Amino acid sequence: MKKIAVYPGSFDPITNGHVDIITRGLRMFDELIVLVAFNHNKKALFSVQERVDMIGEVIRDYKNVRVDCFAGLLVEYVKANGANVILRGLRALSDFEYEFQLALINRRLNREVETVFLMTGYKWFYTSSTIINEAASLGGSVKGLVPEIVNAKLQEKFHCMKDNL
Ligand code: ADP
Repeated sequence: MKKIAVYPGSFDPITNGHVDIITRGLRMFDELIVLVAFNHNKKALFSVQERVDMIGEVIRDYKNVRVDCFAGLLVEYVKANGANVILRGLRALSDFEYEFQLALINRRLNREVETVFLMTGYKWFYTSSTIINEAASLGGSVKGLVPEIVNAKLQEKFHCMKDNL
């Protein structure tokens, strides 16, 4: 049986910390689906389409991985796509409580779906989309923390916002 994992998240935008989890996840699973899981009530910097397009660019040359988006119950998406694992990344202690709750509720909703955690690469310990967006919005360089295409998009976005002030 093929081992297919779903890596869900906001990816607003994808960072090198996410890319590290994708690369390492691909060594463990036959197939990986990077899922932009969205919620209409949650504010985001990038639209779902922009997030999907950026991920698509980043994984363009990777094998056995694709990107998708979904607004609904994650375990249902996982089963509908023939997967049985939810892949998540863990950074500092602050991630732990939320991730623990999420893993337990998903297991309660479907006992056949397991959540697997990969510890962050030490270089990406402090990298989060929120911090990246904040630094970029204030004119700070985030080069090296995000894929080049994301860096360009952030510059475009914030230049454009500054022009509109
Ligand atoms: P969410 O809103 O679901 O937390 P994120 O895009 O912030 O979405 O994160 C998706 C997943 O990737 C989460 O499991 C998160 O812990 C993990 N992640 C985010 N940034 C990093 C990083 N720098 N290193 C490792 N894992 C990360």
